[in-house]
Amino acid sequence: MFERLSSLRQHQQDGRRSPHKPLLVLLALGRLAATGTSRLPWSEAEQELADLIEEFGPTSKTGRAQSAAFPFTRLRSDGVWTLDRDVPMDTVGPLREGVTGRFEASLEAALRNRPELIAEAARGLVESHFPGTVAPDVLVAVGLDPDWLEGSGPARGASPADRRRSSTWLAAVIEAWDRQCAFCGFDGAAGGGVVGIEAAQVRWFKLGGPDDLDNGLALCSLHHKLFDRGMLGLDDDLAVVVSRRFSARAPQGRTVYDLHGQRLQPRPGTLLPADRHVAWHREQVFQGVALAG
Ligand SMILES: [Zn+2]
Repeated sequence: MFERLSSLRQHQQDGRRSPHKPLLVLLALGRLAATGTSRLPWSEAEQELADLIEEFGPTSKTGRAQSAAFPFTRLRSDGVWTLDRDVPMDTVGPLREGVTGRFEASLEAALRNRPELIAEAARGLVESHFPGTVAPDVLVAVGLDPDWLEGSGPARGASPADRRRSSTWLAAVIEAWDRQCAFCGFDGAAGGGVVGIEAAQVRWFKLGGPDDLDNGLALCSLHHKLFDRGMLGLDDDLAVVVSRRFSARAPQGRTVYDLHGQRLQPRPGTLLPADRHVAWHREQVFQGVALAG
C-alpha cells in the first residue's frame, strides 16, 4: 500500500511537471498529521488544493476548480484515495454536491499507526517534484515540517505537536516582519503569498533554539542563506554585520557590503531578536571577523 504512494514520485513526462496528485497527497498528509484524519471535503479542497496548484504548479490556463478536480477524482485510480460517492472523473459539478475524499482505509491506518511514514512519504514526494529551494515551502504550505528534508530521517524525539508549532512559527515570523526581508527590505509576492521571503532561526532549532518570535527574522532567500552560512550576522545594537570572509566582484553581489551597519527595520510592535539568541548566532554561526565599519 505504501508503495503505491511512492509510485506517485514519478509522474513527469517529457520534462513536463505534473505535481497535482502529489500536492493532493501532501495536503492530505498534512491533515492527517495535524488532525488524525486525512478527511478532505471538496468544499475545502476546492480552495486549498487550488491554491497549492496555483502557487506550486506550472502555469496553466485551466480554471482553479477544474485544476483541483483533476487530482481529487483521478487519484482514486492510483489506489490510494477514495471518495464517499461515486462521481465521474474530472467533473467539478458533482463534487459540489458534498463529496468528501480521504486516503484509502488501509493506507490511512498504516500512516496513523506509524507516523514516521508520513514524514517519509512527504519527503519522497516533495523531493521528487520540487527543487530544494521550493520543497520546504511546499511542506510549510500543507502544514508539514520542512526540517523533514534535512538529514536522513524525521527529527528524532520531536513530537507531532512540536512540528505543528514550528510550522506556525514560520508564518508568524514572516507576518511579524511585514512580509519583507529584515535586512534589505525585499518584499516579493506571487499573487497573494510571499515568494523568496523565509523565516530564519537566529538560534537554530536543532541547537536548542526556541520557536519564539524573538528567535526569528524574516529574510529574503539570499540573506537567509548568507545568515545561516555565517556571512551575515548582527551586532549588539542589532545592526547587520558582514563577514570579511564574504566576497563578491560584480555590483549585484557587492550590494551585500552595503548592508553592513544597517539597523533592522521592524514595524512597530515586532519582537526583536533576543540578545541571547543573537549572541549564540555570533558565536556559533557567524564566520570570522566583521568588516570594519
Ligand atoms: Zn534581503
